[in-house]
Amino acid sequence: MRIYTDLADAIGNTPLIRLNRASDETGCEILGKAEFMNPGQSVKDRAALYIVKDAVARGVLRPGGTIVEGTAGNTGIGLALVGASMGFKSVIVIPETQSQEKKDMLRLAGATLVEVPAAPYKNPNNYVRYSGRLAEALAKTEPNGAIWANQFDNIANRRAHIETTGPEIWDQTDGRVDGFVCAVGTGGTLAGVADALQPRGVRIGLADPEGAALHSFYTTGEFDSPGSSITEGIGQGRITANLEGFTPDFSWRISDAEALPMVFDLLRDEGLCLGGSSGINVAGAIRMAREMGPGHTIVTILCDYGTRYQTKLFNPEFLQAKGLPVPDWLTRPGLDLP
Ligand code: PMP
Repeated sequence: MRIYTDLADAIGNTPLIRLNRASDETGCEILGKAEFMNPGQSVKDRAALYIVKDAVARGVLRPGGTIVEGTAGNTGIGLALVGASMGFKSVIVIPETQSQEKKDMLRLAGATLVEVPAAPYKNPNNYVRYSGRLAEALAKTEPNGAIWANQFDNIANRRAHIETTGPEIWDQTDGRVDGFVCAVGTGGTLAGVADALQPRGVRIGLADPEGAALHSFYTTGEFDSPGSSITEGIGQGRITANLEGFTPDFSWRISDAEALPMVFDLLRDEGLCLGGSSGINVAGAIRMAREMGPGHTIVTILCDYGTRYQTKLFNPEFLQAKGLPVPDWLTRPGLDLP
């Protein structure tokens, strides 16, 4: 038995879980990297840890200092928890549209929360740009200084996946992995894993939700973003620093109607309780399996834990209001009791 010395030690080294139905239906081995098993229950713990360690190593984040970030929630949760374990404060700017559960968890983790109306990146009050200005202001007023984590353009994020997620996938599959696919929020996961695995012959796929512009960019060179998605934490409209130099081998645009049934089936049939972005990822892995043909090993990311979305993704009224299919078991009371 090995004793972890602190929270940082418990981040990463997540298991790969065979997704049985997706595998059996495609004749491929479709494996999900269980990132919801990180202490903050999402893949973003890895980026948070690397960003904080990098800022400490560069001497810009000093003891008692403050970490400021704009985030859909998961990066903020990671930063707040890592911060708590290392003696840093956190201030998190989040779009109002994100789930209440993530906001509650952020407050619980000790973050000071700033909720802003959802606005596109070109708007100066967009949550990311707002957080950058707030960090600058706090750097002057906080006695121990403040830094902007800047996950979208801070490549310590991508490095987390180059150095940990990618090599873990290679080792866990004994080098038998043929394909890797996931969606993009910052691009750290997709481009970082690609940096680690593309040179070893692994083919990389982008699973883009509706309302995101990367599928369009990688297939036509234009940023076009038709439709919309209820998924959180993904859907990018620009080439972030974390995506620079990256090119996928495959790209698909995946609708919520295709992705959400994956989330419901994985919970009911395989006991995996996941958020919406994991549904986009698993749908992408199935598209990749169909395109590559049977016999391949394809890995994707199970990004975060589903309880984070109980009031949205797993709420029949919410789904109905969005015109999305409601699985019948979600409204069923359970067994008839004697
Ligand atoms: N899924 C969820 C639920 C997320 O919060 C994020 C990160 N915002 C992602 C996927 C995408 O990860 P990345 O930022 O590495 O592209």
